Amino acid sequence: MASSTPSSAPTGALRIRYAALTDVGRRRTVNQDSGYASDRLFILADGMGGAAAGDLASSEVMNIVRRLDAPLEGDPLEALAGAVHRANDRLAEVIEGDSTVEGMGTTLTALLWDGQAFGLAHIGDSRGYRLRDGDLSQITHDHTFVQSLVDEGRISPDEARTHPHRSLILRVLLGADDNEPDLDMVEVQPGDRYLLCSDGLSDMIDDESIREALGLENIDIAAVELVNRALAGGGHDNITCVIAEVVAADDPQEDLAAADGEPMLVGAASEQSRPRTTNAAGGGASGVNAEESDDPGIADGEVESEPDPEHLRYAPREPRRFRWIKGLMILLAVLLLLGVAGGLSYSWTQNQYFVASSDGKVAVYQGVQADVPGLSLRSVYEVSDIELDALPTFRREQVVAGIESSDLQDARASVSSLRELAGRCADPKAAARPGSECEGAS
Ligand code: CA
Repeated sequence: MASSTPSSAPTGALRIRYAALTDVGRRRTVNQDSGYASDRLFILADGMGGAAAGDLASSEVMNIVRRLDAPLEGDPLEALAGAVHRANDRLAEVIEGDSTVEGMGTTLTALLWDGQAFGLAHIGDSRGYRLRDGDLSQITHDHTFVQSLVDEGRISPDEARTHPHRSLILRVLLGADDNEPDLDMVEVQPGDRYLLCSDGLSDMIDDESIREALGLENIDIAAVELVNRALAGGGHDNITCVIAEVVAADDPQEDLAAADGEPMLVGAASEQSRPRTTNAAGGGASGVNAEESDDPGIADGEVESEPDPEHLRYAPREPRRFRWIKGLMILLAVLLLLGVAGGLSYSWTQNQYFVASSDGKVAVYQGVQADVPGLSLRSVYEVSDIELDALPTFRREQVVAGIESSDLQDARASVSSLRELAGRCADPKAAARPGSECEGAS
């Protein structure tokens, strides 16, 4: 678990305390979250892409957006919007340079302090919360499939929490064109606490638990408690929280811990770059945060090798979706072709005729003599009056084996010649004569 340090700096009438903490969680070996906190900038980026590069995506975006941590000139929302676009362009650039990371993406939630209020930029399903006077409210809107269902009144927020597709994200930074963030100003009051967190926290504990923990005596304790509660709740995913507290510039309470006034960077963006892996399961990579690996709550044996549920998050994203749809279309096309070809083949078989026996008589069959499993390709078309026994042995065997015909007319001609033969052999003496064409007829 990363350490958290608070700090403060004068910003006129108000100033901001900050804390940031991350934990890889109980089921992951790589932290794909990145968090940043300073006295004027708060950023949360939850990378995704399984083994592909979720940590790379969140790091790249983090490293662009945290350049905003400088004296602000102009409108905070313009600054944020510009940073989001640059971050998205950076993702596009990285993906262009390395096709193995195509599909990586990241959420981004950022608060930029302008001295009196926060500008908020948000895309994805990370969360922003405000705790004011003991009441918790969410200041961000999830860009998720289930949230869209809630917005449409089709499911309740409670149902959304347990919905099978609750992890599907509709909008994140992917280095593509349609990645506009939500941009809002957030008015503040002294005493407000703001929490930015990844879904590894908000999926593990409910709002009431977040409210309680965020309200603890100081934000360092709150950060630790939030992460611990998410771990206790399952710790299925990387857990990151970034906390801002708005206090009066002359607030008498001392800042705690090793407040050195330096910004805090936690998670993927704070780690050494790790060797890329082609392991699609997302696990097994090196690079567990050294700060986190000494957490006694996370034994190596607890890391599970089950399929990475994070992969599910990609379903709604366009590149994946179109790949998936394309695959389905190909499959359908193949099935359709097989169906059409099968239909044509069957149609062809039903224009074929042959001569064979049916109940001891010579008959014309429609179809072909071969069958395919589950499908008979022949049926009796017409039965003649010719008794099989009236034919000489050789011809009888031919009929039993089936006599190929080019068409119905040809089949009927065969039947006619067999009838003539049977007629000629109707004389018992002819049938009995050794070497005659009627040998074996009776
Ligand atoms: Ca996550």
